[in-house]
Amino acid sequence: MGAAREIPQLHGGTMEFGRTPEEIEESRRALLVMLFASAGSMILVVFGFLSLSEGRHGLALVLLLNAVLCLSLFLYNRLTRAHAREVSYFFAAQAFVLALYLILGGGVDGSGVFFAFPVTVIMVMAGFTSVRLAVFFCALLVGTAAVGLYGPFPAVYDYESVQKSRLLVGLSALCLMAILAEWMRVRSYMAITSTHDQLSVDARHDPLTGLLNRRGLEEAIGSMGEEAFPAALALLDLDHFKQVNDRYGHDVGDQVIRAVADHLRRHLKGRDLVCRWGGEEFLIVLTDTQCATAREVVEAIRENLSRTPQKLGGSEHHLSFSGGLTRFNDPSHLDSALHEADQQLYRAKQQGRNRVLWRTEPG
Ligand code: GH3
Ligand code: MG
Ligand code: MG
Repeated sequence: MGAAREIPQLHGGTMEFGRTPEEIEESRRALLVMLFASAGSMILVVFGFLSLSEGRHGLALVLLLNAVLCLSLFLYNRLTRAHAREVSYFFAAQAFVLALYLILGGGVDGSGVFFAFPVTVIMVMAGFTSVRLAVFFCALLVGTAAVGLYGPFPAVYDYESVQKSRLLVGLSALCLMAILAEWMRVRSYMAITSTHDQLSVDARHDPLTGLLNRRGLEEAIGSMGEEAFPAALALLDLDHFKQVNDRYGHDVGDQVIRAVADHLRRHLKGRDLVCRWGGEEFLIVLTDTQCATAREVVEAIRENLSRTPQKLGGSEHHLSFSGGLTRFNDPSHLDSALHEADQQLYRAKQQGRNRVLWRTEPG
């Protein structure tokens, strides 16, 4: 959250806002900071000099100081590429002070209030991710304005009584609308984020077994740290699985695939990776495991499965798998490790199935 995103760029006519909801939200915020800073400081400078030419030195000073502050914050954000969130909070606080000044000071002949309204919208849009904070600042603005307008303060612009009440009602309505719009935006952002998270989990898992799919496995391997190595990789393929489908039907075949997935999960430790590589093929990566230990583990899984008869369609059926195992000590060598495991699996099938093979290391 600390580092600011680049301000979104136009690519072939469309804005590149980012790929995840978080990135898109950061881009939105960076764009707002840029828009408010550039448009805001320009308007402030114009009105500052106008006030100066009309001899309203106090107002001119406030407007020009705000313009300088606005530009400095924006430049700071652009140069350091950091603290976009904090800078936007500054804009919100600045907008709060400016709105209050325009209401209570009255600007030029009481016209300041007209500008206080858009400035209030900026206050809500610029700074707030939390609707509670927006409610707090809006309530503070309306409350302070009410006290200022009705209290015994000679410095406050002398509005007509009817203007005071309408000003407060108008300001309250505007705050309410701005808060509601922000609330709806935040809610829809949260809904989009949770849908995105769910979709990204779905995209990386197999729906039948809940195991990682190929994409999930490749990503998990890509994010494996040094502590995961040495590791071993095994490719497993159920033996004569077509017979299960032919004899008991496809649904029972699916149940078997699920049961084997559970069997693998039960026998592996938390940081190992288990993936449904294809139809009835599974790929496992045993992390932080020497090759010799990996052989024992996979052998134990195989033996356990082939020893335990499965109840299929009312009768007992012995399931087994064949496997190829290889060491896997470098994530960038996934393709060659897969090739090696596949060759060993092929040999295991050739030698009669229900066995796990690996290349005997020279020496
Ligand atoms: P082998 O011992 O040589 O591996 O023989 P096999 O019968 O298992 O042959 P193979 O591995 O080539 O065949 C896999 C079969 O698995 C083919 C397909 O009908 C079945 N299969 C693939 N995916 C699914 C699935 O999601 N559900 C079910 N029920 N069957 C599947
Ligand atoms: Mg197969
Ligand atoms: Mg098979």
